Amino acid sequence: MLAIADMAHRVIEAGRRAAGRRDIACTISIGAFVPKPHTPFQWVAQTDPEIANDRMRQLKQRVRDDRACGRAITIRWSDGHPGLIEGLLARGDRRVGKVIEAVWRDGGIFDGWNEHFNYERWIRCAAEQLEPQGVDLAWYTTRERPATEVLPWDHLDLGLDRNWLWQDYQDATKGRAVHDCRWDECNDCGVCPEMGVDIEIGPSGAALLPLRVVQRSLA
Ligand code: SF4
Repeated sequence: MLAIADMAHRVIEAGRRAAGRRDIACTISIGAFVPKPHTPFQWVAQTDPEIANDRMRQLKQRVRDDRACGRAITIRWSDGHPGLIEGLLARGDRRVGKVIEAVWRDGGIFDGWNEHFNYERWIRCAAEQLEPQGVDLAWYTTRERPATEVLPWDHLDLGLDRNWLWQDYQDATKGRAVHDCRWDECNDCGVCPEMGVDIEIGPSGAALLPLRVVQRSLA
């Protein structure tokens, strides 16, 4: 994650070289990752918000310590705690409905707005409602799921091949890139044949976008 600071540093340096000026600015906008259903990360353990916040503080410090470019780099980051609740709602099953109702009965509304969000209320209601049902907040959020686990949304068919998603997840954890099927060959994820669509538009050899490659070297 600290490599983001190094990338911003290089962006500033490249901008200064290309523009021939020093007043180049760069903004890092970052938030903790929230795994979502029907994605390769539907099995992944969400990062604890304290750990996520600590990493973002380290990133901020790394930028501050950069004497050459640090003042030209702005960091915007969002607190990881709302992300944990977002993760609960994203990958929750019907048992989480009781938590939502409890929060609402306790006065929780407009929780998507920072000034209304009450993390402690969510934590308390989650503990009260989930424990009698044999689960807890961590079970839904910071727990990695095995490939064999039946997920609450498995009965909803978006056309994606589950085995393909799992393989995509494995590739991601090993840093193996998968090419973009809009511009390259089909990855056989299952969507096009299952949904009767034809997303693949390349490789056709034709110009796909009215954009030209910028030839000017930044070196
Ligand atoms: S072209 Fe269609 S089936 Fe192939 S990888 Fe892309 S979305 Fe999936």
